Amino acid sequence: SATIIDGKAVAQTLRHRVAQEVAALDRRPGLATILVGEDPASAIYVSNKRKLCVEAGMRDRHRLLSAQVSQAEVEDVIDELNLDPEVDGILLQLPLPKHLDAPSLIERIDPDKDVDGLTETNAGRLALGRPGLRPCTPSGVIQLLDSAAVHLEGAHAVVVGRSDLVGRPQAQLLLARDATVTVCHRHTRDLASHTRDADIVVAAAGVPKLIGAEHIKPGATVIDVGIHRTEGGLCGDVDFDAVAGIAGHITPVPGGVGPMTIATLLRNTLTAANLHNSSHRETRTNGSGPARDGV
Ligand code: NAD
Repeated sequence: SATIIDGKAVAQTLRHRVAQEVAALDRRPGLATILVGEDPASAIYVSNKRKLCVEAGMRDRHRLLSAQVSQAEVEDVIDELNLDPEVDGILLQLPLPKHLDAPSLIERIDPDKDVDGLTETNAGRLALGRPGLRPCTPSGVIQLLDSAAVHLEGAHAVVVGRSDLVGRPQAQLLLARDATVTVCHRHTRDLASHTRDADIVVAAAGVPKLIGAEHIKPGATVIDVGIHRTEGGLCGDVDFDAVAGIAGHITPVPGGVGPMTIATLLRNTLTAANLHNSSHRETRTNGSGPARDGV
């Protein structure tokens, strides 16, 4: 049966490495989180992000806004954080209450502080293969694949889902690693015919246990991005018990992709801080060398 990819352990190693690099800097990187309203799941996500940010030696800045906050008030908070030299990364926790225009708020974040990689600038940089900040969850998936030494070049990877947050950037990241990528979504006819041909399946459809044994080629790598709270506890988009008998590698839920998302957020905040430090040095020394080194 499949080798389980231990996302918790890989994430811990990554966070440890980030903490070591942070400790060697003369200025502490800062992460600002913005939480709107009191959605319990979002509140838990944000409090975990803040806790691990502090554990990694970074500065934690937090803005809790009421569920009734106006668009203009959120804009003001983003503007203030954009200008704050102690803030290297800005995370606007999604989803936002319906009365707010989420795309325009995301777009207001300075692309060089956009540690979720969701602005048009960073999405464009990814699509064009240029350096930039990459969305956390799909980059965490790539690191999990690397940790298990899964060969990407020339492999057939099938991504199930095409959201701005996960599926679409996942496909781009796999393409950038020379995989042959198929993207499936809710209009795909005969999902299994695609996934059964895949060496790697990344399931990000948001449908509990969508991927069963009949979707998987023996020995394939299966990465489960989905998270669902059910009466029987947490489950993913993959029917773990059915697929673990067929796959070569598989991620569990919980303990797979989830922990990597936060670890990658910290990595992105450090990357953004290095970018800000080097561009600051450049203005001081009147500019030599690449400002985007290391991104
Ligand atoms: P989303 O709802 O925005 O997008 C879902 C995508 O799946 C859409 O592109 C849709 O076309 C496709 N889809 C839906 N039903 C399908 C079906 N039957 N067959 C094929 N494709 C189908 O969701 P999202 O934000 O991309 O998140 C996906 C899942 O990942 C959710 O369960 C979410 O909770 C989880 N998630 C986990 C993390 C993490 O850190 N582990 C982060 C983000 C999202």
